[in-house]
Amino acid sequence: MILKNKVIDSHLHIEAWENEEGDVTTSFEPYKVERELKAVNVCGLPSHNGAGNNIMCLFYKLANPNTYCHCGIVHLEKPIIDTPPAGFDTITQYRELMEIGCDGIKMLEGKPSYHLELGSDINVPSLDRLYAEIEKDGTHLIYHVNDPDEFWDRDRAPKNAFEEGWFYGDLGYASYEEIQRQAEIMMERHPDLKITFAHFFFNAKNPEYLEKLFEKYPNMCIDLTPGTEMYHAFEANHEYYREFFTKYSDRLLLGTDGTFPWATRFHSWCCHTLLRFLSTDERMLAFNDSYLTGLNLPEEAVLNIVGRNFEERVGTEPKPINKEAFKKYIEKYWAYLCSEDKERIEPLMKKYL
Ligand SMILES: [Zn+2]
Repeated sequence: MILKNKVIDSHLHIEAWENEEGDVTTSFEPYKVERELKAVNVCGLPSHNGAGNNIMCLFYKLANPNTYCHCGIVHLEKPIIDTPPAGFDTITQYRELMEIGCDGIKMLEGKPSYHLELGSDINVPSLDRLYAEIEKDGTHLIYHVNDPDEFWDRDRAPKNAFEEGWFYGDLGYASYEEIQRQAEIMMERHPDLKITFAHFFFNAKNPEYLEKLFEKYPNMCIDLTPGTEMYHAFEANHEYYREFFTKYSDRLLLGTDGTFPWATRFHSWCCHTLLRFLSTDERMLAFNDSYLTGLNLPEEAVLNIVGRNFEERVGTEPKPINKEAFKKYIEKYWAYLCSEDKERIEPLMKKYL
């Protein structure tokens, strides 16, 4: 199967201004070339370094117009309050990002650690108003809600969950079921949301549940971004999942979670593995050093998953950056940026804006 110029990585992040291969403005370019990708989509994570993270992603998009970008909302107050400082409400921020030229919105507000920081409810009025606006506009939303259920269980949680602060068995965190229930409430209130739940919505062990949601919400998709645990579930139910992936090939999106400053070889290997998994029947060493058997899907299904669905939802051309709006955004959030971000942004503004 020839996938040259067909593949779009829909789920990438930028968390540094440079690595040994280059700076933020070239971050995923070597990866695009190596894997012959059609395009990439970078997702802003204000939970990481506030508006600075959106700005990193937007500079990459500005320097490489063949790039999609989904930025996130900055929460100056944690937990979220209903009346943030004037001009920093969720709707104003959303409008600013769309005016700059974002192709969609990325949210992490349902990831249990961030969820707790923000007040443990993804349906508070200011977020609910945002969903309503996004739904009305038909804007694409990539939403990370929940985490693997083993992250709540001291005996089953992987080592990295403890290292990263993603072990949720301690007091305070909402349960897996509670967070999933909140997502259901959001969907009941906003059934037309053009939403893509990241990481298979952490339900690879419960695909019947996903099928129910697909039937109920025609605009809902999920992405295949690992989540190593998902791939163990796919392997354990190989035949079932071959059918599932074929039947719902219009609901699945490819992504790697590749993160600049990691070296290109990491996302490149991940993308290569995902493409082999979808398009061949080979047995391959996959995530967490376990084996994975390719699903060998029909060509049409593969093409849907690797790029067409993303284009169908977001557009066949990335939106251009409105430089004036971008400049205004940087000025507005300047006081909230860390000193490293400010130092890095100044020369980029001179060069690109
Ligand atoms: Zn991610």
